[in-house]
Amino acid sequence: MRAGDGDVVGVFVIESPLVRAAGPTRRAYLKESVMALDQSLGGRLVVREGDPARVLVDLARAVGSYDVFVTGDATPWSRARDRRVDTALTDAGRRLHVVDSPYVVAPGTLTTAAASRYRVFGAYERAWRPWAEVVSPGPTSIPDWRRVVSDEPVWPTGAYAGRPWYFGDLPDDPPPARAPAGEAHALARLTSFGALVDEYATRRDQVGVDATSRLSAALHFGELHPRQVLAVTQGVSLGRAALWRQLAWRDFYADVLWHEPASRWHALQPAMESLRVDRDDRAAERFAIWARGRTGYPLVDAAMRQLLTEGWMHNRARMVAASFLVKHLHLDWRWGARWFLWRLVDADVASNQHGWQWCAGVGTDAAPFFRIFNPVRQSQRVDPDGVYARRYVRELRDASVADCAQPEGGTVHYARAMVDLARERVEALARYDEVRRGSAGRS
Ligand SMILES: Cc1cc2nc3c(=O)[nH]c(=O)nc-3n(C[C@H](O)[C@H](O)[C@H](O)COP(=O)(O)OP(=O)(O)OC[C@H]3O[C@@H](n4cnc5c(N)ncnc54)[C@H](O)[C@@H]3O)c2cc1C
Repeated sequence: MRAGDGDVVGVFVIESPLVRAAGPTRRAYLKESVMALDQSLGGRLVVREGDPARVLVDLARAVGSYDVFVTGDATPWSRARDRRVDTALTDAGRRLHVVDSPYVVAPGTLTTAAASRYRVFGAYERAWRPWAEVVSPGPTSIPDWRRVVSDEPVWPTGAYAGRPWYFGDLPDDPPPARAPAGEAHALARLTSFGALVDEYATRRDQVGVDATSRLSAALHFGELHPRQVLAVTQGVSLGRAALWRQLAWRDFYADVLWHEPASRWHALQPAMESLRVDRDDRAAERFAIWARGRTGYPLVDAAMRQLLTEGWMHNRARMVAASFLVKHLHLDWRWGARWFLWRLVDADVASNQHGWQWCAGVGTDAAPFFRIFNPVRQSQRVDPDGVYARRYVRELRDASVADCAQPEGGTVHYARAMVDLARERVEALARYDEVRRGSAGRS
């Protein structure tokens, strides 16, 4: 906020309900990130816990501020919160200015000729690209910051709110090998990745190779703006084009959520809400086997163990693990999405829920339900040397390449394959057919 004398007072409000509902990974990262920000501002960040509407009005009065600035957001929760803050500040004779967004193009900006939201990613990306090409001047220097003596912030600890029953006794500890938080780490990563961006297009799907930016958490927590990524990766190359496309996906999903807030927990394709899924105790047991990385399919297990230990997972591994949960285990995509939100350091409502819906074939275009990833064949394609499987499934550390794709029949038996892929594929297609026939009957 801008104080009466023109100085800037930086404020971070800890919203307990949000922090309590965040899983262990995001809770730990957020705290570290805010502390790093405070440090880089010379200890001048005001960190308060409470209802932002009350905290900001009190603080604005205390420092004589009439203008409070916030970055716009896309989730239903944050938009409702910002509306409440706006009303409270207006009632107190102050103003809330919503400035820009954490996206290249703010959600809700791009619409079709018929003034509706883009339904297909390809069309959205074509409209998005000219906006990305506009070179932004980059972050401006920070004006004078005012030191405001702050109370010790109260960070919620202890029990998490909203832990669903099917998590059973799955772990609540933060991942032991989580990447460090803070702008300095993010900028260092951006610089090192920027030098390798040309290889991104050809190597980004190789799960065992460190060829992607790993900037998702920094982007999610606002340590970096995506325009900083665009600026560092200017120039024509296939790698750059592929990377920018991923940033467009990020904006696209935020845009979809902005227009369709219910898509947070409901399938974008209404007919797919009736897809038959298992939800009983045995389903919960299967869920736990998947979440612990004990399915017997190395690519899926390596992915789920990477999530447990690092709080992050390679994009291709996310796709295969998600597909396996929905199409081979016949569980609700929302169960998997919740687990990812719980464990991922970059957990983001728009990208996660729509990433899941895409994999489950119930959301935006491109991955129809009948396309089913085979985790063994995927492993041969994206982990051809078994590097990823050996790294995370320690039982496979001395295994042959063939065993790293499918241990059964080979020499290593670290976990019995929990399902027969061919049989469950038939079952998945039968359930999908029920939906198709059901909706055909209705139309
Ligand atoms: C089931 C599933 C769940 C996902 N959940 C999340 C999530 O909670 N948070 C999240 O940030 N991403 C999510 N993604 C997208 C993607 O997997 C991650 O953004 C990516 O793996 C992060 O690694 P990176 O930073 O190295 O990505 P890079 O490949 O370097 O891409 C650069 C940036 O583009 C964005 N991006 C890349 N791929 C996608 C994508 N498919 N959709 C949206 N944005 C993308 C991210 O911000 C990423 O940091 C999910 C994907 C799937 C399939």
